[in-house]
Amino acid sequence: MPTSQSTVAVVGLGGTIAMTATPDGGVAPALSAEQLVAAVPGLADTGITIEVADFRRVPGASLTFADLTALADTIRRLCAKGVDGVVVTQGTDTIEETAYFLDLRLDLPQPVVVTGAMRNPTLAGADGPANLLAAVRTAASPTTRNLGCVVVFADEIHAAHRVRKTHTTTCATFASPDGGPLGHLVEGTPRILNHTTRHPMPAGIDTRGDVRVGLVTATLGDDGHHLSTLDGHVDGLVVAAFGAGHVPATWIDPLDKLARRVPVVLASRTGSGPVLTATYGFPGSERDLLDRGLVNAGFLHPLKARILLHALLSADADHDTITAAFADAGHTTPGDRHPQP
Ligand code: ASP
Repeated sequence: MPTSQSTVAVVGLGGTIAMTATPDGGVAPALSAEQLVAAVPGLADTGITIEVADFRRVPGASLTFADLTALADTIRRLCAKGVDGVVVTQGTDTIEETAYFLDLRLDLPQPVVVTGAMRNPTLAGADGPANLLAAVRTAASPTTRNLGCVVVFADEIHAAHRVRKTHTTTCATFASPDGGPLGHLVEGTPRILNHTTRHPMPAGIDTRGDVRVGLVTATLGDDGHHLSTLDGHVDGLVVAAFGAGHVPATWIDPLDKLARRVPVVLASRTGSGPVLTATYGFPGSERDLLDRGLVNAGFLHPLKARILLHALLSADADHDTITAAFADAGHTTPGDRHPQP
């Protein structure tokens, strides 16, 4: 249980949780972190001391790698000052990416908890206050120390490297298809049921603004023309392939060429389950593509794979380092590591 001495910092980035009606219709980010905290019934009764930091007021879609790098620095500073945990409130649209970015970049004992809302504060049953209260309780709890970055939503606690936004509107949109949530809040107390292995990046890596990582999704009948236009315009590429790691035969040549110049990571567009390594033998199969030097993302979702590849390229990692990092993060076995072509 949090003690009355616990201090949690709440860092506001905007998103639906912070939106109010605009004169022209619709809602847009407007509320400060202080206003969000003030609107949570029962927060004062927890005895947890809250510090607020107003960081950005933007929709999730407008966040950038520069914002996230500055956010990671802010969280490091807050933790060095002695807070017991940090809550980030933001737009749900990009939580599955921002949370994984923070998980890779921060290696702190204090919990870093990302949350938001699906129903904005003008709607009946707005979920922001309940999510923020649950996030603060999670961030203040000794049971969530050393878990890295987690996403707390609808009283569930999800690991950053697994969590996915799975629905456009439901308040139970966040899920962890491979493995389920790490835990739940029960009567306001975080209970951890599962543990996962984290692989944070070494400290001191800058996020280079000039690193471009593309993401292409394999689709039926695609002739692959757009792949050849990427050459020279990306530093790395993630392929969200069919099924267990398959692409149309028309993609083989352009992917082969790209993989000789930049790291190309093979992930699955299905959203759960691993890329295979040894099952299919047709042209464009996982065996074919891995033999051509594509890097196996394993269980890592394409969106997460893009964040990891961006982090590795920002650190000037070589091909072997990239392959090994994906083997760890994607939970493939060491035998899955393919050498550079
Ligand atoms: N629908 C989004 C949200 O839930 C909007 C955003 O990401 O800013 O916050």
